[in-house]
Amino acid sequence: MAIDFTFPPEVEDARLLVRKFMHDTVRPKMAELRGSKAGRDVWGKEIRALRDAAKERGLWCPHMPEEFGGMGLGHTAVAAMSAEAVKTPFGPYLINCQAPDEGNMHTLLHFGTEEQKEKWLRPLCEGTMRSCFSMTEPEVAGSDPTQIQTTAVEDGDEWVINGHKWFTSGAHGADFAIVIARTDPDADIAQARNSAFIVPTKSPGFEIVRDVQTMGGGGGHPELKYTDVRVPKENMLGERGGGHKLGQVRLGPARLAHCMRWIGQIEQALEMLVDRAQKRFAHGSMLSEKQGIQWMMSESALELYASKLMVLHAAYKIENNMDFRAEVSMAKHHVANTLWKTVDRALQVHGALGYSNDTPLAQMLIQARWSRLADGADEVHLMRIAEMVMRSYNETGSVNHAVGDLPI
Ligand SMILES: Cc1cc2nc3c(=O)[nH]c(=O)nc-3n(C[C@H](O)[C@H](O)[C@H](O)COP(=O)(O)OP(=O)(O)OC[C@H]3O[C@@H](n4cnc5c(N)ncnc54)[C@H](O)[C@@H]3O)c2cc1C
Repeated sequence: MAIDFTFPPEVEDARLLVRKFMHDTVRPKMAELRGSKAGRDVWGKEIRALRDAAKERGLWCPHMPEEFGGMGLGHTAVAAMSAEAVKTPFGPYLINCQAPDEGNMHTLLHFGTEEQKEKWLRPLCEGTMRSCFSMTEPEVAGSDPTQIQTTAVEDGDEWVINGHKWFTSGAHGADFAIVIARTDPDADIAQARNSAFIVPTKSPGFEIVRDVQTMGGGGGHPELKYTDVRVPKENMLGERGGGHKLGQVRLGPARLAHCMRWIGQIEQALEMLVDRAQKRFAHGSMLSEKQGIQWMMSESALELYASKLMVLHAAYKIENNMDFRAEVSMAKHHVANTLWKTVDRALQVHGALGYSNDTPLAQMLIQARWSRLADGADEVHLMRIAEMVMRSYNETGSVNHAVGDLPI
């Protein structure tokens, strides 16, 4: 039998090492900082020190090859490490595996020239640079990138970029942006109109217009203007007209990486639900003895189990160069909705305490909400899954190819 759900010892060792590092080193430091009411500069210094400590232990860039200072792990192993890291605040950042840098690293590794890799990917991997991904625009539907209005026009040895973006996460403090812009408005197919560019954020004309205030606060997803921003020809990333494809290739593993982090949070929420239900007494019995509460536990457990299997299977398909589109879409949809439902149930069982900021649940619920609309809204994934199911049926007489292509 080729089916084996155990990890090889080196992956299991790495996962347990992350757990130990987060538990023994990071959490006590976070508790100390919170208790001391330290300012931003102290937090910054301590976070840098924790990143150095992670690096020293070899817990660094699990998703990148060793030649770029990473651990060279495949997607399945990264799933294990990410799900562990996310249970601690800043966890993924401490091991340099956070969005959007993580997705941008994959993109540069896949599409970058040797020069681009040395100039932009290596410092990202070393943790000396940060980046952002700038695709979504306020005026047109982000779900349909063929409508992008930002333009890039050739002028001698340069491209001149003009446009308006928002929700460019992490633009504050980023050294460069990967920008998707229209270069070929007359291309035969809409998907060949856009190209990708590496744009240093210190370029004249690159402007953060405002900090967009969201449900989760501000500081994360600003609105930007590109006014006659000039980049040299060699800053085109991937081929001309390949911006749409690059976005799709980037989003496959990046979506899965989100799922891996969300699984850690689902598990955390379910554990909080179980813990609280067994400690709270109402109407003659513990909450955990009431069927209504047990169903919340069991539905969350069922959905979490399915989430894990979906993510592991999608990671396995990416790792083995198999077509992963249906599996990643299904995983993204299922895990995002499981996160939303499980955190909501856990919050419900905590009552007023859940609604307060005395537990992390309120913040987790706010963060969980965007998971259902960013990186492919629920409805868009459902549309793509339906397309793939029909194609599979029409081409092979069976839906199996679109539901994991499993041998059962
Ligand atoms: C927290 C957060 C971080 C983000 N980070 C980034 C980033 O770093 N870089 C970046 O470029 N973008 C980023 N985004 C933007 C994100 O990618 C877009 O929000 C997403 O692509 C949807 O685009 P939109 O907001 O324009 O919604 P629209 O495209 O206008 O869609 C709105 C709604 O319409 C419905 N819909 C759309 N298409 C269909 C369809 N075919 N069938 C049925 N219903 C449909 C869905 O319900 C969807 O939610 C971020 C967003 C959030 C919330």
